[in-house]
Amino acid sequence: MTEKADLQSVLDRAAEGGRITPEEALDLYRDAPLHALGAAADAVRRRRYAGTEHIATYIIERNINYTNVCVTACKFCAFYAPPKATDKGWTRDLDDILRRCAETVELGGTQIMFQGGHHPDYGVEYYEEHFAAIKAAYPQLVIHSLGASEVEHMARISKVSAEEAISRIHAAGLDSFAGAGAELLPARPRKAIAPLKESGERWLEIMEAAHRLGVESTSTMLMGTGETNAERIEHLRMIRDVQDRTGGFRAFIPYTYQPENNHLKGRTQATIFEYLRMIAIARLFMDNIAHIQGSWLTTGKEVGQLSLHYGADDLGSIMLEENVVSSAGAKHRSNRLEIIDLIRKAGRVPAQRATTYEHLVVHDDPANDPVDERVQSHISSTAIAGGTAHPELKLLASN
Ligand code: SF4
Repeated sequence: MTEKADLQSVLDRAAEGGRITPEEALDLYRDAPLHALGAAADAVRRRRYAGTEHIATYIIERNINYTNVCVTACKFCAFYAPPKATDKGWTRDLDDILRRCAETVELGGTQIMFQGGHHPDYGVEYYEEHFAAIKAAYPQLVIHSLGASEVEHMARISKVSAEEAISRIHAAGLDSFAGAGAELLPARPRKAIAPLKESGERWLEIMEAAHRLGVESTSTMLMGTGETNAERIEHLRMIRDVQDRTGGFRAFIPYTYQPENNHLKGRTQATIFEYLRMIAIARLFMDNIAHIQGSWLTTGKEVGQLSLHYGADDLGSIMLEENVVSSAGAKHRSNRLEIIDLIRKAGRVPAQRATTYEHLVVHDDPANDPVDERVQSHISSTAIAGGTAHPELKLLASN
């Protein structure tokens, strides 16, 4: 363990942009004073974004959950239905999916996240057909979706290599991978919560292949299912090592496990302090990843605001629809005006961003804030029900 004086020198080195080892990161994560850790991370963020360091971003997107039928049965998941549970499983047809895309465009959304279970019948062809149809109808929508787990599954169903699966869905319209399925990459916690998923090494191998094939991605981490601090830092190390080789991870997004309606009931959620420490250590340790995203869907808006002072530069998305983490108990809701206000009250200038993080609209004058009457009226009056024909204007934020 690093002595106190040494801990300060490691923190100073990290704040100045020096690379720290996994062992040093673990010491800082465990023992550095919370505010000092946040201040060091914020210094790094300010330097990386010198000139625009006063800005914090958000994106408008929609999650499109195409099926909840899944053969992988992750223990933390409250969303899936096993194929035999025909009374619980559902799929959306292409018309329904296209209608959701139309609503996304209508409401100013720029991105969709196609997210669903590992359906036993959905191979590469399913995704090719759907992405091609979405792009043909709405070429302006960015398809930022799926991750290595879905690639592994669809490649197995279609009996092709992961590389072929990636190339084909990319050619059909996939723009970038959302990095879903990372959960926890080290073997012990991964096996404990997702025993049927591919290994963490395989997850990284597929993401590395995607980066080499020109498909960038974000990366994620699920905190609070019983993993150790050392395993959290090992997760970061595994991602940082790949990033050193590819540079293809645009962002890192930690989020906290939600304990309702799944098979891990009773496990401890990560505390807010652990979450903020993770945001800060990610900014300090992952010196090769540009964006660190604060996720308030699972931690709350005030924590989202705090994350902007602990190294995060982005607050993720105002989701026009989200059903996955909500199923597990995430209860925080917001809308565009609230996110703008929230960022402003955190002392930053809000900006709507593109998937690739360019600023689309900088809200530097409150007098010119967007007022979308349709969004406001639907928030207050539209009943939310999965699969209805109504715009699902449950405005949520997530990764
Ligand atoms: S997390 Fe994804 S892969 Fe795991 S059970 Fe849920 S839907 Fe299936």
